[in-house]
Amino acid sequence: MNLIAHFIDGKRTGGTSTRRGDVFDPATGRRTAEVELAGAADVAAAVEAAERAARTWRDASLAKRTAVLFAFRELVHARRDELAELITAEHGKVLADAAGEVQRGLEVIEYACGIPSALRGGFSENVSTEVDSYSLRQPLGVVAVVSPFNFPVMVPLWFVPVAVAAGNAVVLKPSEKDPSAALLLAELFVEAGLPGGVFNVVNGDAEAVDALLDHPVVRAVSFVGSTPVARHVYQRGTAAGKRVQALGGAKNHMVVLPDADLDLAADAAVNAGFGSAGERCMAISALVAVEPVADELVARIARRMAGLRTGDGRRGCDMGPLVTAAHAARVRAYVEAGVAAGAVPVVDGRDVAVDGDPDGFWLGPTLFDRVTPEMSIYTDEIFGPVLSVLRVDSYDEAVTLVNANPYGNGTAIFTNDGGAARRYQHEVEVGMVGVNVPIPVPMAYYSFGGWKSSLFGDLHAHGADGVAFFTRGKVVTSRWLDPRHGGVNLGFPTQT
Ligand code: NAD
Repeated sequence: MNLIAHFIDGKRTGGTSTRRGDVFDPATGRRTAEVELAGAADVAAAVEAAERAARTWRDASLAKRTAVLFAFRELVHARRDELAELITAEHGKVLADAAGEVQRGLEVIEYACGIPSALRGGFSENVSTEVDSYSLRQPLGVVAVVSPFNFPVMVPLWFVPVAVAAGNAVVLKPSEKDPSAALLLAELFVEAGLPGGVFNVVNGDAEAVDALLDHPVVRAVSFVGSTPVARHVYQRGTAAGKRVQALGGAKNHMVVLPDADLDLAADAAVNAGFGSAGERCMAISALVAVEPVADELVARIARRMAGLRTGDGRRGCDMGPLVTAAHAARVRAYVEAGVAAGAVPVVDGRDVAVDGDPDGFWLGPTLFDRVTPEMSIYTDEIFGPVLSVLRVDSYDEAVTLVNANPYGNGTAIFTNDGGAARRYQHEVEVGMVGVNVPIPVPMAYYSFGGWKSSLFGDLHAHGADGVAFFTRGKVVTSRWLDPRHGGVNLGFPTQT
């Protein structure tokens, strides 16, 4: 059985952890590997390697750091198909979707190649007579990244390239469900010329995460995962004095106004509801139809769903399996709860015919109509291919519903009325908003993040926020004396 271990100080390790987990191919249901689950000693070894490396990496010139980032970009680009295959083999998403994930990760590497501009400070000459003042940003030291199962390449790449380019050393703890891609990224970094220890990977579960949160050398933690764990990571990390950004779960609403292009809206609902089997933090899971459009919209969505092929992600299907048997059972239980609560199952994914191994973790795309806000299929993040349609009578009712939801990750409005769209983007309490765009994931040079229970912390991922997160500001006030000097004066310094 293939054993997946850690990557510490520039090389793969193995046999150091006492606990192990199973890795599955979700499309066949077969166990394909075992993954070592790090304990505190493994985490300490990774942090020590990072601490040693950080001391010299912080002094590497910007030219050297960007050269490594450029080389890393070329290697990830050259090996993108292999990365996509690793994602599909352990996560299950279809190959085209996995390739899209790698592409979004590449865009953050490209952003990080521009780190010299992002780190530029300000300079003011003569703030006082013959005194100059300037600002700089310096790395934090050792930082940790903890990522979820649903984007095993893209989410680590939201943080790691920016952290490394800014001069930090990183310990990444990927999801134990699909750990292989992170190890390939680590090897590519070394091939690109990154000194050993600047980027380390420890595999594991909650035990490894808590060891990182408690380790005094770790200065900052970037976390992405479910809301209860994000809250825990934020509280434990900040209590230990660390800087923490913890991105949590989501319930993303798509509001369709009566004047919307219904074909565009139906395409968008299907793509954003069922892409990656709904296992995206920006998936649309609640469709808010402002009457009188609901009947027509539901009919158009159902017609499109009839053409979707669910099956093995390597066979050109539209939608793959769910990540584990346990998760598939959990999502199926939500479908059962929706039916029991009185929602109308317009398309029931439990009956899906799959193009794949019968032992895979399958559930087909499911569409519920007449969902009401107290049903568990609406209140909970399901994280599966289940789209709920809620019918409302007005724009005001729609925006009130969206703002009452505890999550605030992404949302979209579909309309041809610019004024209504403008009002929505102004009033809605959500961090990322799409106008006739269903999955409004910001580009790498903007920052990604939600509001409310979708993000604990102040700074979002990548873009300017990412650079701010992985650096500390410093302001220098300097005076190079000419032969004159001011003499003794105990008063508080002011401009003269
Ligand atoms: P998860 O919370 O179960 O796990 C995330 C990470 O935390 C993993 O590395 C896991 O090993 C670790 N972990 C799990 N339990 C822990 C605990 N008790 N203490 C400490 N660490 C723990 O999430 P998941 O199932 O891997 O991913 C799906 C979730 O991630 C969904 O809720 C989804 O919305 C969310 N997500 C959010 C975003 C975003 O940008 N807001 C992006 C992607 C995924």
